[in-house]
Amino acid sequence: MDINHLHQLFLKCSSISIDTRKIEPKSLFVAIKGERFDANTFAEEALIKGASYVIIDNANYFIDHRTILVPDSLTTLQELAKFHRLYLKIPIVALTGSNGKTTTKELINVVLSKKFNTKATVGNLNNHIGVPLTLLSFDKTTEIGIVEMGANHQKEIEFLCEIAQPDFGYITNFGKAHLEGFGGVEGVIKGKSEMYNYLQKATKLAFVNLEDNIQIEKTNSIERYTFGVNKKEADINISAIEAKPLVKINYHNVEIQSQLIGLYNANNINAAIAIGTYFKVALTDIKDALENYIPENNRSQLMQIGSNKIILDAYNANPSSMKVAIANFIQLQDLNKILVLGDMFELGEESAQEHKIIVESLQNEPNIICYFVGADFKAQQIAQSNLLFYESFDDFTKDLANITFDNNSILIKGSRGMALERTTAYIK
Ligand code: ATP
Ligand code: MG
Repeated sequence: MDINHLHQLFLKCSSISIDTRKIEPKSLFVAIKGERFDANTFAEEALIKGASYVIIDNANYFIDHRTILVPDSLTTLQELAKFHRLYLKIPIVALTGSNGKTTTKELINVVLSKKFNTKATVGNLNNHIGVPLTLLSFDKTTEIGIVEMGANHQKEIEFLCEIAQPDFGYITNFGKAHLEGFGGVEGVIKGKSEMYNYLQKATKLAFVNLEDNIQIEKTNSIERYTFGVNKKEADINISAIEAKPLVKINYHNVEIQSQLIGLYNANNINAAIAIGTYFKVALTDIKDALENYIPENNRSQLMQIGSNKIILDAYNANPSSMKVAIANFIQLQDLNKILVLGDMFELGEESAQEHKIIVESLQNEPNIICYFVGADFKAQQIAQSNLLFYESFDDFTKDLANITFDNNSILIKGSRGMALERTTAYIK
């Protein structure tokens, strides 16, 4: 079946699905082989549950006229997404970067949805499967699409840009994340910059944060719309930012009091202001959207448990986000500060060094009690009374159960696999 014909079938379906547990009636089911499951085996179940058609790539699972057999289901999903994107002809804003993609994506979405019918990546569906699914969730009523693109190795962003063909691109930052797959920070810059290469080739526009010299240099020959803090040359010149710990910014004499923690989130907010302004959303609407946005999923959430103030940032961690989160915590004027830090994963050969840097950076903070959780931090143990090290979370809980928290400010941050949000259960 050619792609045009397949697209016609897709348009008749209610939605697209790759998971029989979440299938909707009249949807198109795509059977993708994962690491653990081969979804071809679920094709029949998908039809029983109400799917109109199933795409499979193993002839053994052919059922009837509703079965579409292709050489490779994943490739077909990607081709269909690209075809659909070209068919819709809507403006697409894509974003990538090491940290803050999902937060920024959500902020852009709340801002643009004040004026347009927008659709954006759901959650963190940002990879070679998530991006096609996102594009296929856009329809004729969508006025602007917002697409998060994640990557942990070279050529991935190039590939995703070929599918999504964005008209606008934004890179949140080049940081120390997924160093293993990218081959160090230089590799990250090269890999993420594939978005700029795409924008340049396609003569599209980049939104650029002027706080970052590398980004400025990388976008020299691209049409760009810029923002920065106290940067007269910027299209959007933010006059003041603070984080105590919630970020407040001032733009055009309008104060925007966000519910996001940490100076690093000011970049995410400023990006959303810039993109909103570019699309001519009224500043009062931008303010309203940003002030009402509350982060989810343990991403920089401010919580109060008893007398304790908790900054729960346990969603994920890498050296860059760890560094900015700690710097932000240090600058808070609070008393009785406690840090709970978990191992940072996927750092390859730079892992030991990066964990060491974090531990050493806290040697000069005698007033902060630091609990380091995980084998990678434990390996960098230093004998200092306020720095405590634990091999694992279980190990940590033995002490944790005996600590009395009283009027503390606590930052909790670690890689997803550490699931440090479990700490909150011990705080009363
Ligand atoms: P993922 O790679 O999981 O998709 P992401 O890039 O989408 O991550 P978010 O989920 O928005 O990032 O944020 C994850 C964490 O990164 C936050 O909780 C915060 O600690 C940190 N972070 C957010 N924005 C920035 C930023 N601009 N600079 C540095 N760190 C940031
Ligand atoms: Mg994300």
